Amino acid sequence: MPDPKRPPKPDSELTPESRRNREYYRKNPDKHEQMTRWRKDWYLKNKLRIQIQKKSYQKGVRDECVRILGGKCESCGELYNPHARISNLEFDHKFYIQSKVIPKLPHWHIQRMIRDGLDPKTQYMLLCHTCHMGITTLRRHHEKAKNIVALATKSGIL
Ligand SMILES: [Zn+2]
Repeated sequence: MPDPKRPPKPDSELTPESRRNREYYRKNPDKHEQMTRWRKDWYLKNKLRIQIQKKSYQKGVRDECVRILGGKCESCGELYNPHARISNLEFDHKFYIQSKVIPKLPHWHIQRMIRDGLDPKTQYMLLCHTCHMGITTLRRHHEKAKNIVALATKSGIL
């Protein structure tokens, strides 16, 4: 089954080997169908195992990145919970505007930075969900944030 979200590459961008494969399947559409069916069956038969492998690999990468970044919320100190189904700590982009040009997931980007000999702490920090929401609001709405702090101070909340 071709991925509906990803259109096939044009012939000119293929490697010689992939081009040969494509030509072969164009000439033998029944073979193509057979292979597609076989791949789909194999996936369905091994679906659970594949999903578990994928999840545990991704979790390993995430855990490692959390460890590198200190393992706790930089604001309130909430510790990382490795058993939570959804991570209790989030990766915050320190340079908000700059990091928008990097379309990768934070943990892939962190791995790449380490590979390139860069310190991921210059780009990311760990925050719990509450602190992350707070910081993001402060960044996005400077004036509103100042007013809120003033109001909270005046009314004795802070
Ligand atoms: Zn926090």
